[in-house]
Amino acid sequence: MFVLQAVAVVALLFLINVTLVRNDTRQTVRDARQNLLEQGAALSINMTTGLAHRAIVGQAIAATLERFPDLSEQDFDHLAAELRGDMQDILNIALAPELVVTLVYPLAPNRSVIGLDYHSRPDFLESVKQALESGEIVVAGPDKLVQGGTGLIMRVPVEIRNANGLDEQGIVSVVIDDKAFFAASGLKVESEGIQMAIRRDTDTAGSPQMIFGEPSVFAASPVISTIVVGNEIWQLALCPTAGWPAIGDRANRIRAVTVVAMLVAVSLLLLVNRLRRRSETARRQLVDAIDALDDGFALFDSDDRLVICNEKYRKLYGDGADLLVPGRLYREIGEAGLAHGLFPEAIGREREWLENHMRFHLNPKKTIIQKLQDGTWMRIVERRTSDGGTVGFRVDITELKRARETAEAANRAMTEFLNNINHEIRTPLSAIVGFIRFLARPETLKSHQALKNLIADPSSDKAQLSAAIDSYVAETKTFASRVETSATHLAELVHDTLDMAKIQNGVLDINPQSVDLTATIADCVQQFAHEADKKGVRINHFTQPVTIWADPLRLRQILINVIGNAVKFTDAGSVGISCKQDARYTSIIIADTGCGIAAKHLPHIFQKFWQVDGSVTRAHGGTGLGLAISRELMELHGGKIDVISDPGAGSTFTLRFPRVASEGG
Ligand code: ADP
Repeated sequence: MFVLQAVAVVALLFLINVTLVRNDTRQTVRDARQNLLEQGAALSINMTTGLAHRAIVGQAIAATLERFPDLSEQDFDHLAAELRGDMQDILNIALAPELVVTLVYPLAPNRSVIGLDYHSRPDFLESVKQALESGEIVVAGPDKLVQGGTGLIMRVPVEIRNANGLDEQGIVSVVIDDKAFFAASGLKVESEGIQMAIRRDTDTAGSPQMIFGEPSVFAASPVISTIVVGNEIWQLALCPTAGWPAIGDRANRIRAVTVVAMLVAVSLLLLVNRLRRRSETARRQLVDAIDALDDGFALFDSDDRLVICNEKYRKLYGDGADLLVPGRLYREIGEAGLAHGLFPEAIGREREWLENHMRFHLNPKKTIIQKLQDGTWMRIVERRTSDGGTVGFRVDITELKRARETAEAANRAMTEFLNNINHEIRTPLSAIVGFIRFLARPETLKSHQALKNLIADPSSDKAQLSAAIDSYVAETKTFASRVETSATHLAELVHDTLDMAKIQNGVLDINPQSVDLTATIADCVQQFAHEADKKGVRINHFTQPVTIWADPLRLRQILINVIGNAVKFTDAGSVGISCKQDARYTSIIIADTGCGIAAKHLPHIFQKFWQVDGSVTRAHGGTGLGLAISRELMELHGGKIDVISDPGAGSTFTLRFPRVASEGG
């Protein structure tokens, strides 16, 4: 991303640089041309006026001759000298009536010219004819001069009346030292890095005739100025000796600025990118941290609009979670929750509930506990932030709440148990204490009194005495047996309680082995035969041989608990014990026709100290630990205990022991 941006910025700056450099080059060339144009204009003015002055010399002589055709040589000389003045580059002025030179100034150095017939010089004749035909001044040359050297020859047509009174055509020639004239006009082949050249601007085909300088100047796209002399037009060309600038004056400066701009732009991009990455990382860390929270978290800004919330917070809203988008008002989120029936306590009084809740939200001083539709309990903690926003936590305290409820239930059960156990312990203890008192003072027994009376009565016979002794012994035996029963019950109670404590502390071990289940069940049934007989309840049990893999003592304990309950809670009918085996389990089914257990009580009967009738005045004894211990023991065997019950019709308990390969011994 950064590389792309950097490349784009650098490319853009490069393009700008190229454009600026190109514009600068154009401007530099424009400036240079403008400069040369101005120099060219000055030079062309100089030369045009210079040539005009020299043309005036020719024209003045021509005009004089037209008026005074018989101008004497002396006058001509005088006139020419006058007109020439300080124009030292005028080499000579010649008059040629009928195209034969008759007068020349200055005469001495040009005497050889006198008598020159232009007809004999085709190189001169052309310019002469042009002047005569056009009636305009023609400038020829630079040509080789008769007197030697080169010069520009200005031909001025003139009509002179001859001796016969006829007008005849003649030519006044003004010969100008081209080098001196050009030098005086400021023209140099090369000066201060500028090349100059002049050529004749002719319409005729072929290469134009050079007057001054090199033809190459015209090929170097020079600036052109024009010089007009008579009907002739010259082109003055100026160009820089080193050629036109290929690069602008400020190119290096522009390049330097561009490089600096590129460096600054890339550094800025780098900085912005780093800052963006840093803030991105910080934001991601914040989001990760918020998402890692075990609690729901949400942040609202000072306008009470959602800024951010984590997944746990969203989960609370179930189907309404779609509304939890940044920018949503807290109130709207609350309304959405109400619309989805999220808060059971608000049902039927939604408006009032929302207003109360908003009051808490806007001024959150304490925490509130809220129950949600799915049974979850939430502790809501909200605090104002320094910028006027609100930060909110939703702590799931369902476990805590359940644990508290369980603890309270356990506490209640314990209290109930203590009451029961108090009763359970007191009853046998009272019996033990009471009967032991009698046994400790046998003289208070009725049978003892009767025996004493018989011994004191001399009429008593042996048979009477023997019967009295038997009844005394029987009474003490009864008392002793009651003490024994109560003591046994107490011992069981202590035993059960200790077992439960062991299980709870995880220190109860089992020692499974192959056990003859049929014999074990027959033995257990025997224990309850008397109690069942008394109520007329039949106990039917299977007799086919079954072997099981279990701890024999614990198996017995489980069977005694479950069969004992079946007999205890069955007043009429029967208790049936059957066995089923499949590949995986051996199931022992104990079905009774007793009072049964209401559906609402079924989930509790395996809880510790829990009894359908937990009151002190209940009809049946028991500690409420039997089934809890049995379930734990079954689980230690890798098995399970289940119950189904039809209140009023009876209950069926199923003990499922997993089968093992070695159970047959
Ligand atoms: P207890 O020592 O009271 O028998 P248990 O844990 O063995 O304790 O049983 C818990 C309670 O379950 C009993 O108090 C009784 O209310 C109910 N219960 C257990 N077995 C039966 C059954 N076969 N028929 C009806 N109720 C039963």
